[in-house]
Amino acid sequence: PGHLYVVATPIGNLGDLSPRAQAVLESVDAICAEDTRTSGQLLTHFGIRKPLLAVHEHNETDICTRLVERLRSGETLALISDAGTPLISDPGFALVRAVRAAELPAVAVPGACAAIAALSIAGLPSDRFVFEGFLPAKSGARRERLGQLASETRTLILYESSHRITDCVADIVAVLGADRPLALARELTKLYEQSRSSTAGDIAAWLASDANHSRGEFVLVIGGAPAQADATLQEGQRVLGILLGGGL
Ligand code: SAM
Repeated sequence: PGHLYVVATPIGNLGDLSPRAQAVLESVDAICAEDTRTSGQLLTHFGIRKPLLAVHEHNETDICTRLVERLRSGETLALISDAGTPLISDPGFALVRAVRAAELPAVAVPGACAAIAALSIAGLPSDRFVFEGFLPAKSGARRERLGQLASETRTLILYESSHRITDCVADIVAVLGADRPLALARELTKLYEQSRSSTAGDIAAWLASDANHSRGEFVLVIGGAPAQADATLQEGQRVLGILLGGGL
């Protein structure tokens, strides 16, 4: 049977499409793409001409059976998304699951992923982390989700769009506190790339200081809550301070 190659594409800088990714895309029979127009432009840039099949969240489940049949008949396929690694806040899960269920080979061709790129420069603990993708679009639901994540001790990675970045950071300040460590990465690998690692309060002020700061695409990396032992110690120190100080 043919292989399904899951191929990462650039998140901005076209130089990030690896030579191996190019070779694989050149070798397959057809390329499954989230948006055939966006991917068409990318492939044209690299001089790659292949039949494109649209695989997006609305049709993914329906066309899985047909794609699995094509693999079974010996065709090789690649799966790409508009940017970065497929399946990471992007379509592809239903297809890969179907390929696995059919016991056909799936092969990763790794490359850019905004979450990992942002984590690699955040200056926050990277030994254990949690990827939460996009939080809910409405503030009430977003605050509720942040509340559920408030005591998470691992580093948290979020995606956010320009429309909601200011409101999202305001909700982080409201729920997790202005002192919570927060790193923001904007327009990674692109012309107006910027990143900043400080606290939620500082990032909120930085966003408010210049309208350009809230343009583009964002990754937020939130420092985890102090571990339980630390939290208990801090609480003990707080109480001791009150007792020694003779205050409340
Ligand atoms: N599959 C992609 C990946 O591997 O990173 C993510 C796709 S998701 C639909 C798009 C979101 O990823 C954006 O809203 C933003 O949060 C983040 N993102 C993608 N490219 C980015 C970039 N160049 N700089 C910062 N964030 C980016």
